[in-house]
Amino acid sequence: MVLYLGIDVGATNLRVGLVSEYGLVVKYVKSKTPHKGNKETIANEVIKLINKLGRNMLSRIEGVGVGTIGPLNIRSGEVINTPNNLIRDFALLEPIRSKLKLPTYVVNDCVAAVWGEYLWGAGKGKENIVYLTLSSGIGAGAVVDGHILLGKDGNAHEVGHIVLNYSSSIKCGCGGLGHWEAFASGKNIRNLVNEVIHKVAKVSNTEIRGLVRKYGDPEALFTLWRGGDRYSSIIVEELKKINAAGIASVINVYDPEVLSVGGSIAINNEDFMKEVFNIVKYYVTNSLPELVITPFRDLAVVIGAAAIAYQPPKELLRKQST
Ligand SMILES: [Zn+2]
Repeated sequence: MVLYLGIDVGATNLRVGLVSEYGLVVKYVKSKTPHKGNKETIANEVIKLINKLGRNMLSRIEGVGVGTIGPLNIRSGEVINTPNNLIRDFALLEPIRSKLKLPTYVVNDCVAAVWGEYLWGAGKGKENIVYLTLSSGIGAGAVVDGHILLGKDGNAHEVGHIVLNYSSSIKCGCGGLGHWEAFASGKNIRNLVNEVIHKVAKVSNTEIRGLVRKYGDPEALFTLWRGGDRYSSIIVEELKKINAAGIASVINVYDPEVLSVGGSIAINNEDFMKEVFNIVKYYVTNSLPELVITPFRDLAVVIGAAAIAYQPPKELLRKQST
């Protein structure tokens, strides 16, 4: 059996999987992403994980794909000034390729994931697909007319920074005002909670701070919402509209046949996502695509990165040498 190595460099976790030419994960290991070290610390940790897969497996690998948090310099395969890791700048392509001596590709994590959906997943047989992640950040990858969109540095479709409220004073991690990610990513839901609680809770400032802490953690927020808690219902109602408006904006721009959503917020809260999908129709101009949760769950980037190695998009080959 021919195998491909799919590597997911996330904000929280590193995941490495051996994937067959049909998109099946044969073996998989993960660890925490290092947040301290130098330019090669993360690549070294990836190599350590790969070695855990076993020597007999490694000899069958034909190619290596990496899907990583951005922003990315697609030519050098380096992550540049990322807000999602304290190391900020790190190399992936060169250190991994020189150690494994195999064709290696590095792309943005959502670019990897959408290619996986295109070849093996929710977009199989279709030409227009968007993969969206709702996680600690918000991002997307797009295949339009069978072509993957990359952009000049590999950072096309930074949809988390779509402006959803131009009069908002909430600042995104990138510095812009009123961005989708500033309200709705796992890291920033607290901003939305803060705004809603200030509007609806007529209590002291100390109590407000307590409420923001209570509802600011996404997992706690969704658990309280399922229990019928009053404040969480108001917050989640807002969150549904924000995500529906963001998803509709993405549909309006890319006109996909299928939009597949992954990331921890989506895959851990399918009931919430179903309600989001139901109200997207109020915000779109293009006809509605099929809206699904990724069939690959938390392995969407691993499988997608392997898909990049299995069939490298020609748009990527023009920008990155193996
Ligand atoms: Zn932003």
